[in-house]
Amino acid sequence: MKFLADNMLGRLATWLRLLGYDTAYLPDADDHALARVARAEDRVLLTRDVELTRRRGVRCLLIESEKVGEQLKQVMRALGLSTRHAFSRCAECNILLDAVSKETVQNAVPPYVFQTHERFLRCPRCQRVYWRGTHWARMLAQIEDLTR
Ligand SMILES: [Zn+2]
Repeated sequence: MKFLADNMLGRLATWLRLLGYDTAYLPDADDHALARVARAEDRVLLTRDVELTRRRGVRCLLIESEKVGEQLKQVMRALGLSTRHAFSRCAECNILLDAVSKETVQNAVPPYVFQTHERFLRCPRCQRVYWRGTHWARMLAQIEDLTR
C-alpha cells in the first residue's frame, strides 16, 4: 500500500516512511496535482480537506485529527498497517535503505554508536546512516502505544 500525504500532513508522512511505507509528500502541489499523482501512482490520498475526498477515482482517507499521533493511529487502524517493515526506508527521501558493513560507516556515526552497534543501514540518495539505537526502540514503543 502506497500513500500520498497532502501539504498539511508532512509529519504524518515522515512517520509512515519510518514504518516502511512508500509515502509521497508534495508540499507545493495543488489539489489537482495531488489527485493526479494519487491516481497515476495508485496511492491512497491522506488529506485533511474534505473537498479533496470528493475527487473522482481517487482512493482517500479523510484524516480527522490535527495531532500526528492520532493521525497515525487512524491510518494504521483504518488500513491495517503494521510495524513489520519499520525503519527500512529513509524518512527524508522515501526510498529503501541499503544494509552496509560496519566499517563503511565509521566516520559517519558517533564513536559510541559505532562501538555499540553491529548493523547499519544507509540511504543510497542522501547517505544518511540509520541504526537501531535507543531512539529506534523508543519510536517503536511509541507507535505500538498509539495503535493499541
Ligand atoms: Zn535519504
